[in-house]
Amino acid sequence: MLKLAFWKKNLSIVKDSAKVRDIKSQKCSRCGQIKHIAFYADEYGGVKGLCKECRKEIEKNRELFPI
Ligand SMILES: [Zn+2]
Repeated sequence: MLKLAFWKKNLSIVKDSAKVRDIKSQKCSRCGQIKHIAFYADEYGGVKGLCKECRKEIEKNRELFPI
C-alpha cells in the first residue's frame, strides 16, 4: 500500500500538468493512434496514456491503476 500512496503522489503531478494541455485526444502509448485516452499507472510506477482498446488488452495480462 505504501507503494500505491507514492504513485498517487507522483501521478497527481502528472494529472495537473496534463490538464494544461488538451486532453481530449492524445497519442496512445501502446498503439500510437490519436484517440481519447485515459492515464494509467503500471506496476513499475510509470504512467501510460491508453485508449480503450489497448487498456482492455493490457488488463488481461496485468493490473492497471487509473489515475
Ligand atoms: Zn491504443
